[in-house]
Amino acid sequence: METDCVCGSQAQLQYKNEPGRIKGRFIIIKNVPILYCEDCKEEYMTGPNSLRFAERVKQAVESGENELEF
Ligand SMILES: [Zn+2]
Repeated sequence: METDCVCGSQAQLQYKNEPGRIKGRFIIIKNVPILYCEDCKEEYMTGPNSLRFAERVKQAVESGENELEF
């Protein structure tokens, strides 16, 4: 899947393990869909995905896990 980056280039969808930090805890969320643009070297999540990422980090903290699948 390819998506337009803000710079006008095509960003590639990649799945990565992303660290999240909340209340001093360090959480890894696995297989997060990240858009990567080779031109501006930017990595970013879509709006709904970044909301879900924040939600998963919160869930991990609440359940006492150090890592969760996205
Ligand atoms: Zn770009």
